[in-house]
Amino acid sequence: MSVTANSVWNNCLAFIQDNIQPQAFKTWFEPIKPIKLSDNALSIQVPSKFFYEWLEEHYVKLLKVALTKELGDTAKLVYIIKMENTYGNREPFTEKIPSSNRGNMTAQEMDVPIKSKNPELKNPFVIPGIRNIKIESQLNPNYNFDNFLEGDSNRLARSAGMAVANKPGGTSFNPLLVFGGVGLGKTHLAHAIGVEIKDKYPERTVLYISAEKFTQQYIESVKKNTRNDFIHFYQLIDVLIIDDVQFFSGKSGTQDVFFHIFNHLHQNGKQVILTSDKAPVDMQDIEQRLLSRFKWGLSAELQNPDYETRISILKNKLYRDGVEMPDDIVEYVAKHIKTNIRELEGAIISLIAQSSFNKKEVTLELAQQVVEKFVKNTKREVSIDYIQKVVSDYFEMDVATLQSKTRKRHIVQARQLAMFFAKKFTKASLASIGSQIGKRDHATVLHACKTVDNLAETDKQFRKYIEDLTKKFS
Ligand code: ADP
Ligand code: MG
Repeated sequence: MSVTANSVWNNCLAFIQDNIQPQAFKTWFEPIKPIKLSDNALSIQVPSKFFYEWLEEHYVKLLKVALTKELGDTAKLVYIIKMENTYGNREPFTEKIPSSNRGNMTAQEMDVPIKSKNPELKNPFVIPGIRNIKIESQLNPNYNFDNFLEGDSNRLARSAGMAVANKPGGTSFNPLLVFGGVGLGKTHLAHAIGVEIKDKYPERTVLYISAEKFTQQYIESVKKNTRNDFIHFYQLIDVLIIDDVQFFSGKSGTQDVFFHIFNHLHQNGKQVILTSDKAPVDMQDIEQRLLSRFKWGLSAELQNPDYETRISILKNKLYRDGVEMPDDIVEYVAKHIKTNIRELEGAIISLIAQSSFNKKEVTLELAQQVVEKFVKNTKREVSIDYIQKVVSDYFEMDVATLQSKTRKRHIVQARQLAMFFAKKFTKASLASIGSQIGKRDHATVLHACKTVDNLAETDKQFRKYIEDLTKKFS
Protein backbone atom coordinates (compact mmCIF):
# COMPACT_ATOMS: atom_id res chain seq x y z
CA MET A 1 0.00 0.00 0.00
CA SER A 2 1.48 3.35 -0.92
CA VAL A 3 1.94 5.98 1.73
CA THR A 4 -0.08 9.11 1.12
CA ALA A 5 -0.83 12.21 3.12
CA ASN A 6 -4.25 10.75 3.79
CA SER A 7 -3.06 7.40 4.99
CA VAL A 8 -0.37 8.89 7.22
CA TRP A 9 -2.77 11.35 8.73
CA ASN A 10 -5.47 8.74 9.29
CA ASN A 11 -3.02 6.60 11.23
CA CYS A 12 -1.93 9.60 13.26
CA LEU A 13 -5.56 10.38 14.01
CA ALA A 14 -6.23 6.86 15.21
CA PHE A 15 -3.33 7.15 17.61
CA ILE A 16 -4.28 10.63 18.78
CA GLN A 17 -7.89 9.64 19.31
CA ASP A 18 -6.77 6.93 21.69
CA ASN A 19 -4.86 9.43 23.74
CA ILE A 20 -7.12 12.40 24.30
CA GLN A 21 -10.65 13.22 25.35
CA PRO A 22 -13.29 12.74 22.64
CA GLN A 23 -14.43 16.34 22.89
CA ALA A 24 -10.90 17.66 22.43
CA PHE A 25 -10.37 15.32 19.53
CA LYS A 26 -13.51 16.55 17.88
CA THR A 27 -12.67 20.21 18.43
CA TRP A 28 -9.02 20.22 17.53
CA PHE A 29 -8.33 17.30 15.22
CA GLU A 30 -11.39 16.59 13.14
CA PRO A 31 -11.24 19.92 11.34
CA ILE A 32 -7.68 19.31 10.13
CA LYS A 33 -7.16 18.32 6.50
CA PRO A 34 -4.07 16.51 5.28
CA ILE A 35 -2.81 18.25 2.15
CA LYS A 36 0.37 16.66 0.96
CA LEU A 37 3.31 14.53 1.84
CA SER A 38 6.71 15.28 0.39
CA ASP A 39 10.26 14.84 1.66
CA ASN A 40 8.89 13.21 4.73
CA ALA A 41 7.03 16.40 5.58
CA LEU A 42 3.32 16.20 6.10
CA SER A 43 1.39 19.40 5.36
CA ILE A 44 -1.86 19.83 7.17
CA GLN A 45 -4.41 22.56 6.76
CA VAL A 46 -5.84 24.17 9.87
CA PRO A 47 -8.77 26.60 9.95
CA SER A 48 -7.10 29.60 11.57
CA LYS A 49 -4.00 30.99 13.11
CA PHE A 50 -5.52 30.63 16.54
CA PHE A 51 -6.14 26.98 15.84
CA TYR A 52 -2.54 26.48 14.84
CA GLU A 53 -1.25 28.23 17.95
CA TRP A 54 -3.48 26.11 20.10
CA LEU A 55 -2.19 22.91 18.52
CA GLU A 56 1.39 24.02 18.99
CA GLU A 57 0.82 24.91 22.57
CA HIS A 58 -1.19 21.91 23.67
CA TYR A 59 -0.63 19.03 21.32
CA VAL A 60 2.82 19.42 19.92
CA LYS A 61 4.22 16.44 21.85
CA LEU A 62 1.35 14.20 20.87
CA LEU A 63 1.67 15.22 17.25
CA LYS A 64 5.33 14.50 17.39
CA VAL A 65 4.88 11.00 18.74
CA ALA A 66 2.14 10.18 16.26
CA LEU A 67 4.07 11.48 13.31
CA THR A 68 7.36 9.89 14.29
CA LYS A 69 5.60 6.57 14.56
CA GLU A 70 4.44 6.95 10.98
CA LEU A 71 7.36 8.64 9.30
CA GLY A 72 10.37 8.09 11.52
CA ASP A 73 12.74 10.53 13.16
CA THR A 74 13.07 12.86 10.22
CA ALA A 75 9.36 13.54 10.08
CA LYS A 76 8.31 17.14 9.68
CA LEU A 77 5.00 18.85 10.03
CA VAL A 78 4.03 21.92 8.06
CA TYR A 79 0.96 23.91 8.90
CA ILE A 80 -1.04 25.61 6.23
CA ILE A 81 -3.40 28.15 7.59
CA LYS A 82 -6.56 28.61 5.69
CA MET A 83 -7.05 32.28 5.69
CA GLU A 84 -10.43 33.72 6.16
CA ASN A 85 -9.48 37.32 5.63
CA THR A 86 -8.49 39.40 2.66
CA TYR A 87 -5.53 37.31 1.69
CA GLY A 88 -7.59 34.38 0.55
CA ASN A 89 -5.83 31.12 0.03
CA ARG A 90 -3.28 32.15 -2.44
CA GLU A 91 -0.40 32.22 -0.04
CA PRO A 92 -0.48 29.56 2.60
CA PHE A 93 1.00 30.93 5.75
CA THR A 94 3.47 28.49 7.14
CA GLU A 95 5.72 30.49 9.37
CA LYS A 96 5.64 30.82 13.08
CA ILE A 97 4.73 34.23 14.21
CA PRO A 98 7.68 35.46 16.17
CA SER A 99 5.83 37.75 18.48
CA SER A 100 3.02 35.49 19.51
CA ASN A 101 2.99 35.46 23.27
CA ARG A 102 1.10 32.24 23.40
CA GLY A 103 3.27 29.31 22.56
CA ASN A 104 6.42 30.31 24.34
CA MET A 105 8.18 27.98 22.04
CA THR A 106 10.08 29.29 19.13
CA ALA A 107 11.08 27.09 16.26
CA GLN A 108 14.52 26.55 17.76
CA GLU A 109 13.30 25.75 21.22
CA MET A 110 10.95 23.03 20.15
CA ASP A 111 12.51 19.71 20.83
CA VAL A 112 10.45 18.14 18.14
CA PRO A 113 11.01 17.73 14.46
CA ILE A 114 7.96 19.79 13.79
CA LYS A 115 9.18 22.72 11.84
CA SER A 116 7.65 25.57 10.09
CA LYS A 117 9.29 26.70 6.92
CA ASN A 118 12.79 27.76 7.75
CA PRO A 119 12.34 31.43 8.52
CA GLU A 120 15.98 32.20 7.91
CA LEU A 121 17.29 33.81 4.84
CA LYS A 122 17.88 31.14 2.28
CA ASN A 123 21.23 32.49 1.34
CA PRO A 124 22.03 35.85 2.76
CA PHE A 125 25.18 36.10 0.72
CA VAL A 126 24.72 36.47 -2.94
CA ILE A 127 27.16 36.73 -5.76
CA PRO A 128 28.06 40.39 -6.24
CA GLY A 129 26.74 41.99 -9.36
CA ILE A 130 23.71 39.82 -9.78
CA ARG A 131 20.78 42.08 -9.21
CA ASN A 132 18.13 39.68 -10.25
CA ILE A 133 18.04 37.47 -7.23
CA LYS A 134 14.97 36.78 -5.27
CA ILE A 135 15.22 37.72 -1.64
CA GLU A 136 12.50 36.34 0.57
CA SER A 137 10.92 39.25 2.35
CA GLN A 138 10.32 37.40 5.62
CA LEU A 139 7.08 39.30 5.93
CA ASN A 140 4.08 37.98 7.76
CA PRO A 141 0.99 38.66 5.62
CA ASN A 142 -1.19 38.37 8.72
CA TYR A 143 0.26 41.63 9.97
CA ASN A 144 -1.24 44.14 7.58
CA PHE A 145 -2.82 47.58 7.65
CA ASP A 146 -6.35 46.21 7.41
CA ASN A 147 -6.08 44.58 10.79
CA PHE A 148 -3.91 47.27 12.38
CA LEU A 149 -6.71 49.27 13.89
CA GLU A 150 -6.40 53.00 14.07
CA GLY A 151 -6.76 55.02 17.26
CA ASP A 152 -5.41 58.22 18.79
CA SER A 153 -2.54 56.25 20.26
CA ASN A 154 -1.15 55.13 16.92
CA ARG A 155 -2.49 57.61 14.38
CA LEU A 156 0.78 59.37 13.67
CA ALA A 157 2.80 56.18 13.35
CA ARG A 158 0.15 54.48 11.27
CA SER A 159 -0.26 57.39 8.85
CA ALA A 160 3.47 57.81 8.52
CA GLY A 161 3.69 54.10 7.81
CA MET A 162 1.03 54.42 5.11
CA ALA A 163 2.83 57.38 3.58
CA VAL A 164 6.06 55.42 3.45
CA ALA A 165 4.27 52.43 1.94
CA ASN A 166 2.84 54.64 -0.80
CA LYS A 167 6.20 56.13 -1.69
CA PRO A 168 9.03 54.09 -0.27
CA GLY A 169 12.18 56.19 -0.15
CA GLY A 170 10.22 59.13 -1.52
CA THR A 171 9.07 60.87 1.64
CA SER A 172 10.97 62.74 4.30
CA PHE A 173 10.18 59.89 6.68
CA ASN A 174 13.45 58.17 6.00
CA PRO A 175 14.29 56.45 8.17
CA LEU A 176 10.92 55.93 9.75
CA LEU A 177 11.48 54.99 13.37
CA VAL A 178 8.50 53.54 15.21
CA PHE A 179 8.99 53.36 18.94
CA GLY A 180 6.91 52.36 21.95
CA GLY A 181 6.55 49.90 24.80
CA VAL A 182 6.18 46.16 24.68
CA GLY A 183 3.16 44.76 22.91
CA LEU A 184 1.98 48.03 21.41
CA GLY A 185 2.20 46.99 17.77
CA LYS A 186 5.69 47.90 16.55
CA THR A 187 6.33 44.58 14.88
CA HIS A 188 2.83 44.47 13.44
CA LEU A 189 3.14 47.94 11.94
CA ALA A 190 6.61 47.22 10.57
CA HIS A 191 5.29 44.15 8.75
CA ALA A 192 2.21 46.01 7.57
CA ILE A 193 4.37 48.61 5.86
CA GLY A 194 6.41 45.91 4.17
CA VAL A 195 3.35 43.93 3.11
CA GLU A 196 1.75 47.03 1.64
CA ILE A 197 4.89 47.92 -0.30
CA LYS A 198 5.14 44.39 -1.69
CA ASP A 199 1.55 44.71 -2.77
CA LYS A 200 2.00 48.07 -4.48
CA TYR A 201 5.51 47.52 -5.80
CA PRO A 202 6.02 43.79 -6.29
CA GLU A 203 9.35 44.33 -8.00
CA ARG A 204 10.95 46.05 -5.02
CA THR A 205 13.12 44.03 -2.73
CA VAL A 206 11.76 44.28 0.78
CA LEU A 207 13.42 42.64 3.75
CA TYR A 208 12.17 42.36 7.31
CA ILE A 209 14.71 41.28 9.89
CA SER A 210 15.02 41.55 13.65
CA ALA A 211 18.02 43.44 14.94
CA GLU A 212 18.96 40.31 16.80
CA LYS A 213 19.09 38.17 13.69
CA PHE A 214 20.91 40.88 11.82
CA THR A 215 23.51 40.88 14.57
CA GLN A 216 23.88 37.11 14.44
CA GLN A 217 24.33 37.17 10.69
CA TYR A 218 26.91 39.87 11.02
CA ILE A 219 28.90 37.97 13.65
CA GLU A 220 28.73 34.88 11.50
CA SER A 221 30.04 36.82 8.51
CA VAL A 222 32.99 38.08 10.52
CA LYS A 223 33.79 34.53 11.55
CA LYS A 224 33.61 33.30 8.01
CA ASN A 225 35.48 36.25 6.64
CA THR A 226 32.55 37.32 4.49
CA ARG A 227 31.85 40.70 6.01
CA ASN A 228 31.94 42.39 2.62
CA ASP A 229 29.41 39.99 1.18
CA PHE A 230 27.19 40.68 4.15
CA ILE A 231 27.33 44.42 3.55
CA HIS A 232 26.84 43.94 -0.14
CA PHE A 233 23.75 41.82 0.40
CA TYR A 234 22.09 44.45 2.53
CA GLN A 235 23.00 47.20 0.12
CA LEU A 236 20.92 45.50 -2.56
CA ILE A 237 17.72 45.95 -0.64
CA ASP A 238 15.14 48.57 -1.57
CA VAL A 239 13.21 48.58 1.68
CA LEU A 240 15.02 47.47 4.80
CA ILE A 241 12.97 46.91 7.94
CA ILE A 242 14.87 46.29 11.16
CA ASP A 243 12.86 45.42 14.23
CA ASP A 244 13.95 46.23 17.79
CA VAL A 245 17.08 48.24 17.09
CA GLN A 246 17.59 48.78 20.81
CA PHE A 247 19.21 45.38 20.51
CA PHE A 248 22.17 47.08 18.83
CA SER A 249 23.03 48.90 22.02
CA GLY A 250 26.53 48.20 23.19
CA LYS A 251 27.34 46.24 20.02
CA SER A 252 29.73 48.54 18.27
CA GLY A 253 30.71 46.21 15.44
CA THR A 254 27.12 45.72 14.38
CA GLN A 255 26.40 49.41 14.75
CA ASP A 256 29.34 50.19 12.56
CA VAL A 257 28.28 47.87 9.78
CA PHE A 258 24.70 49.04 9.99
CA PHE A 259 25.91 52.62 9.74
CA HIS A 260 27.56 51.85 6.42
CA ILE A 261 24.58 49.98 5.08
CA PHE A 262 22.27 52.74 6.21
CA ASN A 263 24.30 55.45 4.51
CA HIS A 264 24.42 53.53 1.27
CA LEU A 265 20.69 52.85 1.23
CA HIS A 266 19.79 56.37 2.22
CA GLN A 267 22.00 57.94 -0.42
CA ASN A 268 20.40 55.77 -3.04
CA GLY A 269 16.89 56.72 -2.13
CA LYS A 270 16.10 53.40 -0.49
CA GLN A 271 13.72 53.23 2.44
CA VAL A 272 14.76 52.25 5.95
CA ILE A 273 12.19 51.42 8.63
CA LEU A 274 13.23 50.82 12.21
CA THR A 275 11.46 49.98 15.42
CA SER A 276 12.67 50.40 18.96
CA ASP A 277 11.32 50.18 22.46
CA LYS A 278 12.72 53.64 23.22
CA ALA A 279 12.84 57.06 21.66
CA PRO A 280 16.22 57.96 20.18
CA VAL A 281 17.00 60.35 23.06
CA ASP A 282 16.57 57.52 25.51
CA MET A 283 18.66 54.95 23.70
CA GLN A 284 21.76 54.03 25.55
CA ASP A 285 25.05 52.78 24.20
CA ILE A 286 24.21 53.61 20.63
CA GLU A 287 26.85 55.63 18.84
CA GLN A 288 26.07 59.29 18.34
CA ARG A 289 26.52 59.17 14.59
CA LEU A 290 23.96 56.41 14.36
CA LEU A 291 21.53 58.17 16.69
CA SER A 292 21.80 61.27 14.57
CA ARG A 293 20.90 59.17 11.50
CA PHE A 294 17.85 57.82 13.33
CA LYS A 295 16.73 61.39 13.82
CA TRP A 296 17.02 62.32 10.16
CA GLY A 297 13.61 61.02 9.36
CA LEU A 298 10.57 60.72 11.58
CA SER A 299 10.31 59.13 15.00
CA ALA A 300 6.71 58.20 15.65
CA GLU A 301 5.52 56.83 18.96
CA LEU A 302 3.01 54.07 19.56
CA GLN A 303 1.33 55.00 22.81
CA ASN A 304 -0.89 53.01 25.11
CA PRO A 305 -4.22 52.49 23.38
CA ASP A 306 -7.20 54.33 24.79
CA TYR A 307 -10.33 52.51 25.90
CA GLU A 308 -12.16 52.86 22.57
CA THR A 309 -9.23 51.49 20.64
CA ARG A 310 -8.91 48.58 23.03
CA ILE A 311 -12.57 47.75 22.51
CA SER A 312 -12.26 47.86 18.74
CA ILE A 313 -9.14 45.72 18.76
CA LEU A 314 -10.94 43.10 20.85
CA LYS A 315 -14.08 43.18 18.73
CA ASN A 316 -12.06 42.89 15.58
CA LYS A 317 -10.19 39.91 16.93
CA LEU A 318 -13.44 38.18 17.88
CA TYR A 319 -14.92 38.96 14.52
CA ARG A 320 -11.94 37.51 12.67
CA ASP A 321 -12.06 34.35 14.75
CA GLY A 322 -15.78 34.09 14.20
CA VAL A 323 -16.54 34.13 17.89
CA GLU A 324 -19.35 35.93 19.64
CA MET A 325 -18.91 37.31 23.09
CA PRO A 326 -21.20 39.45 25.24
CA ASP A 327 -20.36 43.16 25.34
CA ASP A 328 -19.96 43.31 29.08
CA ILE A 329 -17.19 40.72 28.92
CA VAL A 330 -15.37 42.59 26.17
CA GLU A 331 -15.73 45.80 28.13
CA TYR A 332 -14.45 44.18 31.27
CA VAL A 333 -11.31 42.96 29.54
CA ALA A 334 -10.71 46.31 27.84
CA LYS A 335 -11.14 48.14 31.09
CA HIS A 336 -8.60 46.08 32.97
CA ILE A 337 -5.82 45.49 30.49
CA LYS A 338 -4.50 48.82 29.41
CA THR A 339 -0.89 48.90 28.50
CA ASN A 340 -0.20 45.96 26.26
CA ILE A 341 -2.19 44.90 23.21
CA ARG A 342 -0.56 41.50 23.19
CA GLU A 343 -1.94 40.84 26.68
CA LEU A 344 -5.29 42.19 25.65
CA GLU A 345 -5.38 39.65 22.84
CA GLY A 346 -3.96 36.95 25.07
CA ALA A 347 -6.81 37.39 27.56
CA ILE A 348 -9.48 37.20 24.89
CA ILE A 349 -7.83 34.16 23.31
CA SER A 350 -7.88 32.42 26.69
CA LEU A 351 -11.55 33.21 27.02
CA ILE A 352 -12.32 31.91 23.54
CA ALA A 353 -10.42 28.75 24.28
CA GLN A 354 -12.17 28.18 27.58
CA SER A 355 -15.56 28.57 26.02
CA SER A 356 -14.78 26.40 23.02
CA PHE A 357 -13.26 23.75 25.21
CA ASN A 358 -15.86 23.58 27.88
CA LYS A 359 -18.67 24.39 25.52
CA LYS A 360 -20.04 26.91 27.90
CA GLU A 361 -20.87 30.58 27.97
CA VAL A 362 -18.16 32.94 29.06
CA THR A 363 -19.25 34.52 32.30
CA LEU A 364 -18.06 37.70 33.88
CA GLU A 365 -16.61 35.60 36.64
CA LEU A 366 -14.49 33.62 34.22
CA ALA A 367 -13.39 36.87 32.59
CA GLN A 368 -12.32 38.16 35.98
CA GLN A 369 -10.21 35.09 36.64
CA VAL A 370 -8.52 35.25 33.27
CA VAL A 371 -7.84 38.97 33.48
CA GLU A 372 -6.47 38.63 36.97
CA LYS A 373 -3.97 36.11 35.69
CA PHE A 374 -2.80 38.52 33.05
CA VAL A 375 -2.66 41.53 35.28
CA LYS A 376 -0.79 39.64 37.98
CA ASN A 377 1.76 38.29 35.59
CA THR A 378 2.73 41.74 34.51
CA LYS A 379 4.36 43.19 37.56
CA ARG A 380 2.23 46.03 38.75
CA GLU A 381 3.85 49.28 37.81
CA VAL A 382 4.18 52.02 40.37
CA SER A 383 3.46 55.45 39.00
CA ILE A 384 5.84 58.38 38.97
CA ASP A 385 3.37 60.36 41.05
CA TYR A 386 3.35 57.65 43.65
CA ILE A 387 7.15 57.57 43.72
CA GLN A 388 7.35 61.32 44.26
CA LYS A 389 4.84 61.10 47.05
CA VAL A 390 6.68 58.30 48.84
CA VAL A 391 10.08 59.97 48.50
CA SER A 392 8.71 63.33 49.71
CA ASP A 393 7.04 61.69 52.69
CA TYR A 394 10.21 59.88 53.57
CA PHE A 395 12.20 63.10 53.65
CA GLU A 396 9.32 64.96 55.27
CA MET A 397 8.80 67.51 52.57
CA ASP A 398 5.92 68.05 50.18
CA VAL A 399 5.95 67.14 46.52
CA ALA A 400 6.10 70.78 45.44
CA THR A 401 9.31 71.22 47.40
CA LEU A 402 10.77 68.11 45.87
CA GLN A 403 10.01 69.50 42.42
CA SER A 404 11.16 73.06 43.14
CA LYS A 405 14.13 74.73 41.52
CA THR A 406 16.09 75.04 44.74
CA ARG A 407 19.68 73.86 44.94
CA LYS A 408 19.53 72.94 48.62
CA ARG A 409 21.40 69.72 48.90
CA HIS A 410 18.84 67.56 50.69
CA ILE A 411 16.10 68.61 48.31
CA VAL A 412 18.25 67.99 45.28
CA GLN A 413 19.06 64.53 46.62
CA ALA A 414 15.42 63.69 47.25
CA ARG A 415 14.60 64.75 43.70
CA GLN A 416 17.43 62.68 42.32
CA LEU A 417 16.23 59.67 44.26
CA ALA A 418 12.73 60.12 42.89
CA MET A 419 14.17 60.19 39.37
CA PHE A 420 16.29 57.17 40.09
CA PHE A 421 13.33 55.14 41.32
CA ALA A 422 11.16 56.31 38.46
CA LYS A 423 13.78 54.98 36.07
CA LYS A 424 14.06 51.77 38.00
CA PHE A 425 10.41 50.99 38.62
CA THR A 426 8.53 52.42 35.68
CA LYS A 427 8.81 52.00 31.96
CA ALA A 428 8.71 55.77 31.43
CA SER A 429 11.37 57.33 29.25
CA LEU A 430 14.01 59.62 30.72
CA ALA A 431 12.34 62.55 29.01
CA SER A 432 8.98 61.71 30.44
CA ILE A 433 10.37 61.17 33.94
CA GLY A 434 12.08 64.55 33.74
CA SER A 435 8.98 66.34 32.62
CA GLN A 436 6.91 64.81 35.41
CA ILE A 437 9.43 65.49 38.15
CA GLY A 438 9.66 69.27 38.09
CA LYS A 439 9.92 69.77 34.32
CA ARG A 440 13.53 68.73 33.92
CA ASP A 441 15.06 67.37 30.74
CA HIS A 442 16.25 63.84 30.05
CA ALA A 443 19.92 64.74 30.63
CA THR A 444 19.10 65.85 34.17
CA VAL A 445 17.42 62.52 34.84
CA LEU A 446 20.36 60.62 33.42
CA HIS A 447 22.70 62.66 35.60
CA ALA A 448 20.50 62.02 38.65
CA CYS A 449 20.62 58.26 38.07
CA LYS A 450 24.41 58.33 37.79
CA THR A 451 24.75 60.48 40.91
CA VAL A 452 22.58 58.10 42.90
CA ASP A 453 24.63 55.14 41.68
CA ASN A 454 27.83 56.88 42.73
CA LEU A 455 26.55 57.93 46.12
CA ALA A 456 25.22 54.45 46.76
CA GLU A 457 28.76 53.20 46.44
CA THR A 458 30.48 55.85 48.52
CA ASP A 459 27.99 57.10 51.10
CA LYS A 460 26.66 54.79 53.77
CA GLN A 461 23.82 57.04 54.89
CA PHE A 462 22.70 57.46 51.32
CA ARG A 463 22.72 53.72 50.78
CA LYS A 464 20.36 53.45 53.72
CA TYR A 465 17.93 55.86 52.03
CA ILE A 466 17.93 53.71 48.93
CA GLU A 467 17.33 50.53 50.88
CA ASP A 468 14.48 52.02 52.91
CA LEU A 469 12.81 53.45 49.88
CA THR A 470 13.28 50.34 47.77
CA LYS A 471 11.34 48.39 50.38
CA LYS A 472 8.46 50.80 50.08
CA PHE A 473 8.18 50.14 46.35
CA SER A 474 8.42 46.38 46.26
P1 ADP B 1 5.51 45.01 19.78
O1 ADP B 1 6.34 44.61 18.59
O2 ADP B 1 5.39 46.48 19.93
O3 ADP B 1 5.93 44.35 21.05
P2 ADP B 1 3.44 43.59 18.36
O4 ADP B 1 3.53 44.25 17.05
O5 ADP B 1 4.03 42.24 18.48
O6 ADP B 1 4.02 44.51 19.51
O7 ADP B 1 1.90 43.57 18.78
C1 ADP B 1 1.38 42.76 19.80
C2 ADP B 1 0.04 42.21 19.39
O8 ADP B 1 -0.92 43.26 19.38
C3 ADP B 1 0.05 41.62 18.00
O9 ADP B 1 -0.73 40.46 17.99
C4 ADP B 1 -0.60 42.70 17.15
O10 ADP B 1 -1.27 42.15 16.04
C5 ADP B 1 -1.55 43.34 18.12
N1 ADP B 1 -1.77 44.76 17.81
C6 ADP B 1 -0.96 45.79 18.14
N2 ADP B 1 -1.45 46.96 17.71
C7 ADP B 1 -2.61 46.66 17.10
C8 ADP B 1 -3.61 47.46 16.45
N3 ADP B 1 -3.50 48.80 16.35
N4 ADP B 1 -4.67 46.81 15.92
C9 ADP B 1 -4.78 45.47 16.03
N5 ADP B 1 -3.89 44.69 16.62
C10 ADP B 1 -2.82 45.26 17.17
MG1 MG C 1 8.03 43.39 18.47
